Amino acid sequence: MLKGQHLIAGQWTGGENTFSNEPISNAQDKFAAGTVALIDQAARAAEEAFWTFGWADTAKRAAFLCRIADEIDRRGSEITEQGVKETGLPAGRLEGERGRTVGQLKLFADHIEKGDHLDLRYDPALPHRTPMPRPDLHLIQRPIGPVAVFGASNFPLAFSTAGGDTAAALASGCPVVVRGHYAHPGVSDLVAQAIDAAIKACDMPPGVFSLIQGGGLEVGQALVQHPSIKAVGFTGSHRGGRALFDLCAARPEPIPFFGELGSVNPMFLLPNAVAAKGQDIATGWAASLTMGAGQFCTNPGVVVLVDGDEAPTFINATSQALRRVDPQTMLTSGIAASYETGSERLTANGLVQELLASTCGPRQAAPQLFQTTAQQWLANEALGEEVFGPLGLIVIAKNTNEMLAVAKSLKGQLTCTIHMDRGDNQLAGRLLPVLECKAGRVLVNGFPTGVEVCGSMVHGGPYPATTNFGATSVGTLSIRRFLRPVCYQNVPSDLLPVTLE
Ligand code: NAP
Repeated sequence: MLKGQHLIAGQWTGGENTFSNEPISNAQDKFAAGTVALIDQAARAAEEAFWTFGWADTAKRAAFLCRIADEIDRRGSEITEQGVKETGLPAGRLEGERGRTVGQLKLFADHIEKGDHLDLRYDPALPHRTPMPRPDLHLIQRPIGPVAVFGASNFPLAFSTAGGDTAAALASGCPVVVRGHYAHPGVSDLVAQAIDAAIKACDMPPGVFSLIQGGGLEVGQALVQHPSIKAVGFTGSHRGGRALFDLCAARPEPIPFFGELGSVNPMFLLPNAVAAKGQDIATGWAASLTMGAGQFCTNPGVVVLVDGDEAPTFINATSQALRRVDPQTMLTSGIAASYETGSERLTANGLVQELLASTCGPRQAAPQLFQTTAQQWLANEALGEEVFGPLGLIVIAKNTNEMLAVAKSLKGQLTCTIHMDRGDNQLAGRLLPVLECKAGRVLVNGFPTGVEVCGSMVHGGPYPATTNFGATSVGTLSIRRFLRPVCYQNVPSDLLPVTLE
């Protein structure tokens, strides 16, 4: 059952003001609306908890992560039911996302138990070295302090209350204050109940986790500006992310803002691949582009190919495949409205040719397909801006040099993809050094949706895809965002924060 309240340091807390969710059917649910005073309470409690949690035994922290996973699974059917109601996502998708969420909590538990995250380095003392003796030096990665996490609209579980950012922060030893996303406050409420149960079962300090929902932009702004908060994890729009990033940089003590702000995830179709398997690529692209109504940060919104005999066949096959996809419900009516204005922006000044138009009801998205030339692309930066939803743009280059110029013009991306066949190696070899500068993940002959959660994943990339080109928000490497190296010089081993073999 929903609490309809914030969870602040172990206490379920209400208040005078409330807000309601936006269900696709059934009655709305009411939730207490956040305030700046509640943010202060949660952030202070997180700092208080840090002094014990940050030094807690790794095995204890790992057990806590596993217990959160179990408590989420225990509430699985209720979470799915609430998620379907609030987001319009199908039950199967939400169940899969729950599997990913509990999986990544357990992955982090395993990761910290192995000690891989500590990146231990040791230079033993050389007391007899001349002319200067060397002291005893240990380098250990240490947690940075309380972390603020902004839940994402498009992943109510895997990038929200107990999602990747929260799992990585808790694994590192950092308490978390979550700003719940208004697209799914009920799911956040239920997941917070699971975390609350795990805190009690594992005897963790209550301030280790808080959830605050609603209340407007000033609540999120107060969170990132609170002196107790030492880093922020965010997934959302470029506008919102940039505003919060700027606030973090303008603080008296600036803090890192790990924002994942979106990407058009371009795919480069090389000539031999289009000739040999254009139909298959078209079908695969249509499926990837429309999966989850296109509401994925890795949605491949742009395809670049060289003009030639096979190009019209590919374009026609893509149109046909997209035509067969029904309109889908979007996460919120605001996101559906942005999809509409995004496509209007694209078509406004005659820079693109419409291949497939959208017709659907409110809070719905039908696929759309447009075409432009590389020349237009190179002259108009706006063509490279993300439209969040199932909208594809095909960019036709006159020749391979123009294709390369499009690659060089790209802003930072989460992913870039090459589709190639025998005979395309030379062109792929020219593209790869450019694309690796542009994206956190480079794929060959695949589609970027579906991000594996593992040690070698990078879900990041240069700005504006993210605000930190050196980080990932998926996979075990994401824990490094919330750790910093400390060198312990001549510190007795029994005083060090970890036991060294
Ligand atoms: P959003 O508008 O950026 O909001 C995300 C979170 O940031 C919300 O909690 C929001 O708080 C907060 N926020 C935004 N601007 C803020 C500001 N100026 N000050 C303080 N807090 C602020 O993103 P969204 O609601 O998820 O979706 C809107 C658009 O974001 C989509 O249409 C899409 O373009 C993009 N998006 C991108 C990705 C991606 O993968 N990169 C994922 C989801 C969405 P409130 O709750 O107070 O509004």
